[in-house]
Amino acid sequence: MPTMRVAQVSRPDGPFEIVERARPDPSPGTVRVAVDACGVCHSDSLTKTAAFPGITLPRVPGHEVIGRIDAVGPGVDGWATGDRVGVGWNGGYCGRCEPCRRGQFFACVTGPPVTGISHDGGYGEYMIAPVTSLARVPDGLSADEAAPLMCAGLTTFNALRNSGARSGDLVVVHGLGGLGHLAVQFAARMGFHTVAVARGGEKAALATSLGAHRYVDSTAEDPAKALTAMGGARVVLATVTDADAMSSMIGALGVDGVLMVIGAPHGPLAVPAFPMIAGHRRVEGWYSGTSIDSEDTLRFSLRTGVRSMNEVLPLARVNDAYERMLSGKARFRAVLTMRG
Ligand SMILES: [Zn+2]
Ligand SMILES: [Zn+2]
Repeated sequence: MPTMRVAQVSRPDGPFEIVERARPDPSPGTVRVAVDACGVCHSDSLTKTAAFPGITLPRVPGHEVIGRIDAVGPGVDGWATGDRVGVGWNGGYCGRCEPCRRGQFFACVTGPPVTGISHDGGYGEYMIAPVTSLARVPDGLSADEAAPLMCAGLTTFNALRNSGARSGDLVVVHGLGGLGHLAVQFAARMGFHTVAVARGGEKAALATSLGAHRYVDSTAEDPAKALTAMGGARVVLATVTDADAMSSMIGALGVDGVLMVIGAPHGPLAVPAFPMIAGHRRVEGWYSGTSIDSEDTLRFSLRTGVRSMNEVLPLARVNDAYERMLSGKARFRAVLTMRG
């Protein structure tokens, strides 16, 4: 019987265990993907700690998956063995529930299935993916390059393009980690006046090299004051995980400005009512996107030269890769490769 190696979590906060399993056959409406690479995302901690409501262990995390279709399940049209595909956080949708019928596929209520949480994800040599979760991957991107675009890239690209900002508007990227270093590249290439805000003067050169027009070191000056002096932000894309730092950026918003929350702090955000009322400001969350949004992200990145900066490690070093992501030491995205 053909087998595969996967990295599973078998108890809450236990280590990743590399185990040998039987290679599963695709059920109706799914394909088997031979995984080439999988990014390590902060949200994988929801699998590692079993914090996601209803999750059962053992589970294989991973929702920044790039690979090739290796077997096609019954009833699947339009996808064939050998097709290059990516799989993100959105593990598919039913097409029949009320949100799906209204075109809000991300809000599908039949699960919604989340890759690496409701079913096994890409920390392994093979995975089963519903066809509604598949994105086509252009040939010009390598698997390592494309993997982080399936969540970190998709989330930032899709939030920015749906932010309401127009070309020339002042758009702030708050945080310069795995999400932020991609968001700065996207914002600059979308034609926004792009300002990066992060901690420490040493990140100024990086921000500029990614395309930021200006960098604000939040340890040296008050970002809210600096941005207000520039006219106030149309959009602050908040990628950090510190609730207080995120809340303080409400002061950087101009009239009609929106704080788009894509980082996930543990605590609540403090939102002062008066500036929201007086300046018609908003705080809005953004869900990453579905498979067609991923395709758009990959194509845009290929065309415009947006690339993730990655540390690539073999699957056998999954515990190191996760630790580097969690501690913020990875520059800037850890990617597992199944070759080696
Ligand atoms: Zn993610
Ligand atoms: Zn649905």
